[in-house]
Amino acid sequence: MRVVRVFVIALLVAGVANAQKQKLKVYISADMEGIGGVITDVQADPKGHEYEKFRRLMTEEVNAAIAGAYDAGATEVLVNDGHGDSQNIDLELLDKRTRLVRAYPGPLLMMDGIDPSFDAVVFVGYHAGE
Ligand SMILES: [Zn+2]
Repeated sequence: MRVVRVFVIALLVAGVANAQKQKLKVYISADMEGIGGVITDVQADPKGHEYEKFRRLMTEEVNAAIAGAYDAGATEVLVNDGHGDSQNIDLELLDKRTRLVRAYPGPLLMMDGIDPSFDAVVFVGYHAGE
């Protein structure tokens, strides 16, 4: 999780660097296949026997990114659950400081909810092509 926080902080410092700004909005898009520990499609499939464990891990990794964003000065964080039908992130475990987009399919799919008001974008759990 430390790597995620460092990545978020680097993004904010490099991309925003606007100390005078009152608001700092961070958009997080999360997928599941690139979450730490996910090595098979079955783990990311709601019908798979280990899916519940891996959706918890996805939520924890997203929470690490949220914490990193707030540690770096974010004032608002929006998360898009971008895997499958967008019903993966566990609402009971998700950091309560954030809002969650879980509509699928939205017009911008895994980036639904983003607009020009955001200052930084973080991708969590993304993966290489299959
Ligand atoms: Zn996915």
